[in-house]
Amino acid sequence: MNPTLLSLIELQHMDRMNPTLLSLIELQHIDDEIRGHRKQRDELAANLVRLRAILVQMDKDLADKRGRLTEATSFYDDKNIDLAADTERLGHAKQKLLAVSRTKEYAAMQKELDTLRKKSSDDEAELERLAAAIQEYRASVQAQEAKLAEIQAEVAREEATSGERLGELEKIIGGIASKKIVIVQTMPKDVVSRYEKVIEKRDGVAVVLAAQGRCCGCRMQLPPQQWVKVQMGKELHHCASCLRYLYYTPQAAAAAVG
Ligand SMILES: [Zn+2]
Repeated sequence: MNPTLLSLIELQHMDRMNPTLLSLIELQHIDDEIRGHRKQRDELAANLVRLRAILVQMDKDLADKRGRLTEATSFYDDKNIDLAADTERLGHAKQKLLAVSRTKEYAAMQKELDTLRKKSSDDEAELERLAAAIQEYRASVQAQEAKLAEIQAEVAREEATSGERLGELEKIIGGIASKKIVIVQTMPKDVVSRYEKVIEKRDGVAVVLAAQGRCCGCRMQLPPQQWVKVQMGKELHHCASCLRYLYYTPQAAAAAVG
């Protein structure tokens, strides 16, 4: 059907519809909007919580790494002191060797000197390896520190923009909720309380379209007499199966059928 004609028919149809039914449709529309905004708000908040948790974990990892670096550095320092002591012992042994005159004693001293030399050179090699490993580890800690700072800045920016957006969303939700209060005041109390009960039990949907003789909420086939009445829209009807209020408008039904 021609879209202009269809929207004209739609307007005419809605003019004849029961005002409480029209209010119910609007109420459902408002609740859908509120739900959408709340979902957005909760996602934003959850995202911030997630980001903060990542930061805490990164900070903890970094603290562990720094601890290990401190341990390795102090081990290195101890080894350096050992090496200095070995070098000193080596010096003494050399002095002693010069003073020795007997061959037997000389051979024993020479052996001691060799052992000391070997130990000293092993220690030196180990220290070198240790220094290289420490340097590499320190570089990795520094890289992680830089990364953490980067993420911290990103989280700070995210917190600022999300905070702003969260405030906006709260304001929007508040505005829509007050619109709802105004509409509710014009409606019969029993209809509103039934609406609220159904919306709570049926995934936030208490008013659904009926198209091609079916409830679009649960796909249940309506009794023919009820389907006719629902199409006329003069009174309130609800689906016997899912208990949702039913409405029909030509445009919505056409869109639902596709
Ligand atoms: Zn139903």
